[in-house]
Amino acid sequence: MGRKDIIKIENNVDFDVTMLALIDPNVTVNVIEDEHIVRKVKPELPERVEDVIKCKNPRCITSVEKYIPQVFTLVNRELGQYRCQYCDEIYTVGKD
Ligand SMILES: [Zn+2]
Repeated sequence: MGRKDIIKIENNVDFDVTMLALIDPNVTVNVIEDEHIVRKVKPELPERVEDVIKCKNPRCITSVEKYIPQVFTLVNRELGQYRCQYCDEIYTVGKD
């Protein structure tokens, strides 16, 4: 079952683990302190993400106007689905 999706981070690193959930919703993060695992974190999908995922709709305003931030809101936590704020395009985490 070798799980490769474990990421180790140093405890003092200012790092937003929720962003990892956007790449792989099943990820586990080990927080390391003095070379020991002090915490295991299962990141939760954030309710709102900005400029992390991109809208795939070529007609979306964010595809046309590059200065507009890509804003997505979570619509289904279980399925990892986000909706584009501008065009309602659905982005599924881990699939796109
Ligand atoms: Zn869009």
